[in-house]
Amino acid sequence: MTATRIDGKAFAAALRERVGGYAASFEEAAGRKAGLAVVLVGDDPASQVYVGSKGKATVAANMASFEHRLPDETTSQELLALVEQLNQDESVDGILVQLPLPSHLDEQSIISAISPDKDVDGFHVINAGRLSVGQSGFVPCTPLGCMMLLTDRLGDLSGLEAVVIGRSNIVGKPMAQLLLDANATVTIAHSRTKDLPGVVKRADIVVAAVGRAEMVKAEWLKEGATVIDVGINRLPPEPGKEKGRLVGDVAFNEASEVAAAITPVPGGVGPMTIAVLLRNTLVAAHRNAGLTAPEDL
Ligand code: NAD
Repeated sequence: MTATRIDGKAFAAALRERVGGYAASFEEAAGRKAGLAVVLVGDDPASQVYVGSKGKATVAANMASFEHRLPDETTSQELLALVEQLNQDESVDGILVQLPLPSHLDEQSIISAISPDKDVDGFHVINAGRLSVGQSGFVPCTPLGCMMLLTDRLGDLSGLEAVVIGRSNIVGKPMAQLLLDANATVTIAHSRTKDLPGVVKRADIVVAAVGRAEMVKAEWLKEGATVIDVGINRLPPEPGKEKGRLVGDVAFNEASEVAAAITPVPGGVGPMTIAVLLRNTLVAAHRNAGLTAPEDL
């Protein structure tokens, strides 16, 4: 079998296009643009790049982008004051504080200060709670993007065996909740799981969110499984090259011989994250303006 390559890049581009169209209609209906505020503390180079690309994508989707770049030595009080100001600002629908924060700032207390109704990253405990009891809130962007790719590919997930490898608050746990809500039979595997290959072998759906290069091998997979690879890992550079290749948590080439469908790295889950962030922001804007968000957002 040679697996279908699930093209997250194309799916994300189509979602961004749709969000852009609905954002223009939102502006007409609400008399203002939907707005996303992104807060970056410090000068971590990877975070600088992420924040820059989020800002550009926001503007390209006909929404307003507010960037707040604060120095590394920003105090907790200063950051909380900015979050409070953004909570009150009616032109801001979504607030994202770029993680990781410098070590002197407590991430959980900063995230808790964001209004749950502007928490478009879905990291606030209120939104985690809403997801776990089935109320509408905001779902973290990466797992929601994985879910979109899965339902697009498989349709109804009822009764399917799903194994999520990884139990982080931002990927593994919300992913498992979403699969459970879709009536899959869900197992969460992690670093202490016994016989991980045996557990994965049961799965019709495998979501790997570990951060270990090419850990999931072809022989772990059930024939015909659908594989979503969240991992982003850089291999050591080959001789003469400056940078190593990016790979996922799944050994892509060999897994493609067994799986029915698989996301590549790069070009699979990665591009979905920003597209879903834009989608969540536009949903927040509709709710904040008392409008109904389009169903296919
Ligand atoms: P994390 O480090 O918070 O969690 C990793 C999880 O993997 C843990 O729950 C741990 O129990 C589990 N784990 C570790 N070693 C294991 C092993 N040997 N066997 C089974 N499970 C094991 O990571 P995260 O934030 O959830 O991210 C996971 C990966 O996904 C990383 O590579 C990250 O870069 C990537 N990621 C990608 C996106 C995106 O595509 N936009 C977003 C978030 C994370």
